[in-house]
Amino acid sequence: MPFCPKCKYEFVEGLDRCPDCDAKLVDKLPEKHEVSIKWVLLSILSSPIMAEMVKETLKNRGIQSFIKTDVLNAAFLAKGTSTAGSFAKIFVPEEDKKSAEEILKSISDIK
Ligand SMILES: [Zn+2]
Repeated sequence: MPFCPKCKYEFVEGLDRCPDCDAKLVDKLPEKHEVSIKWVLLSILSSPIMAEMVKETLKNRGIQSFIKTDVLNAAFLAKGTSTAGSFAKIFVPEEDKKSAEEILKSISDIK
C-alpha cells in the first residue's frame, strides 16, 4: 500500500501522489523508531508561511513537527469564516505537545 511520507496516511493502490499534500507516495514508511510516534494536532494556522515559522521554531527547540496543508474546499468557504486560501495544520509528537504549546504561545505573543 502506498503511504504519504508527510501525512503518514495510507492510500489505496494506484495513487502515486497524496491527494492532501501532493507529496509523492512511498511504498512503505521508513522502518524507524519514529513510526511509533503518536502525532497530535498542535494548532491550525491561517497560513502555511506561519506554519513553517512555527515548525522552524519547534525544530530549534528540538521538537519534531510536520505540517499538513489543506486547501479550503467549497463547503468550508461557504461558511464565510475567512478569505479563500489554504491553512495549515501542524502536528507534533504527543509527548512534546505541552512544550510545543508553550512555544507556540510565545510566538503568538510576539505577534
Ligand atoms: Zn500527504
